[in-house]
Amino acid sequence: MPVYEFRCEACGPFDAHHAMAQVPRSERCPACGADARRVFSAVGLSRANSPRARAVDAAARTAEAPDVVRSVPRQGGAPRTSTGVSRDPRHLKLPRP
Ligand SMILES: [Zn+2]
Repeated sequence: MPVYEFRCEACGPFDAHHAMAQVPRSERCPACGADARRVFSAVGLSRANSPRARAVDAAARTAEAPDVVRSVPRQGGAPRTSTGVSRDPRHLKLPRP
């Protein structure tokens, strides 16, 4: 059952569970018993799989025990062969050791 927010003039906001088809316009305040009007607030959209949420989760997960990196992460750019040698012709012009 969804949670709806109500606001008592004297006591402030409180939440109440109601079926979606039976949401009253007002609810009895649990503290003082007065009528409290329903408050319409922003919908809580899920951000569970957004890039920001994944980055925050990864940072929190590795804060105490960092992930072990076994290879250099691929950052896009030039395609690599199975041997890890770049096929980008511009790389042939780079100075060699
Ligand atoms: Zn109240």
